[in-house]
Amino acid sequence: MLGRFVQCESPSHDKAAVDAMGRIVAEEWRKRGVKLRIVPQANRGNHVRAEAWLGDGSASGQILVLGHLDTVYPLGTLAKMPFRVGGGRAWGPGTFDMKAGIVMALFALDALRAVGLRPRKRFVFLWTSDEEIGSGTSRRLIETEARRSDAVLVLEPSLGREGRLKTSRKGVGSAELIVTGRAAHAGINPQDGVNAVHELALQVARLMKMNDPRRGITVQATVIAGGTVSNVVPDSARAEVDIRIARLADARVIDRKLHALRPILKGAKLEVRGGVNRPPLERTPGVSALFQRAQDLMRECGLPLGEAATGGGSDGNFTAAIGVPTLDGLGAVGDGAHTPQEHVLIRKLPERAALLVGLLATI
Ligand SMILES: [Zn+2]
Repeated sequence: MLGRFVQCESPSHDKAAVDAMGRIVAEEWRKRGVKLRIVPQANRGNHVRAEAWLGDGSASGQILVLGHLDTVYPLGTLAKMPFRVGGGRAWGPGTFDMKAGIVMALFALDALRAVGLRPRKRFVFLWTSDEEIGSGTSRRLIETEARRSDAVLVLEPSLGREGRLKTSRKGVGSAELIVTGRAAHAGINPQDGVNAVHELALQVARLMKMNDPRRGITVQATVIAGGTVSNVVPDSARAEVDIRIARLADARVIDRKLHALRPILKGAKLEVRGGVNRPPLERTPGVSALFQRAQDLMRECGLPLGEAATGGGSDGNFTAAIGVPTLDGLGAVGDGAHTPQEHVLIRKLPERAALLVGLLATI
């Protein structure tokens, strides 16, 4: 099943490809007799929502299981990086992040049925199409389902060889600085020019001052561009900026600082776009209680389970920020997400699926 999912390449920006992946996944859920809904999108892949109810009578509450269909790899990556199994691992684009998570959820549902468990809550499995590019079309849907839920379980990759869960994630933002100057000949009339590259360099130095690593704030210029040829005073330059924050309160502070930037050189113009996009996933009492539950369940199986904080964001950031207890990193154990070395450890897949079963059955 994982091989079939991986062999269907699904880069976020290619609607047809992500839709094909969504159809394969939907088909697996349909086989299991769940209530299925495809949420159509005009420019991104369609989202897939599967609802399962295994209890008697009526449900009391809901658990949301979250994951995504898309990957960061462009079409054709499979040719260089084919799906393969070897040395106890399954390799390939999207194995770890996070097609193995979708496989685990399907087998978890099978296992719940096989042992005849009758959980009290309704389960909603939501597979979105644009997580890797900021969840622009899925955020509202994710938040709506989360508000109806008592807990959110996110099947994003776990951390490290030990498969630690992610109980805190930094908030993430991206911004753009766009500088406009005035072109001039660098030798004949430089005094008539306004150097956009110089202006940008001064702004980047200001960005550096916004960093406060002890408070969990990082602001990094990650991509810069500017100028045309070497003897012309450049009239344009731009920078992309990556923002990470550990606390929700800092989102507003950083956004305000970014948008308060003003040009330094006379005649330069500066435009600032963007800001914090994903709020942080903070380790609230609700999050730590869920983690405790997970750790107890694994202990019953004689397996250790740890937790970790990460600077990377996921859709769990959205659900945690609206106050719904969220447990993230429940997906596969592996390594190399977003790189040619991406893989999962095969023998860990049933252990992780068992953990998911335990959570679904007891929350
Ligand atoms: Zn992911």
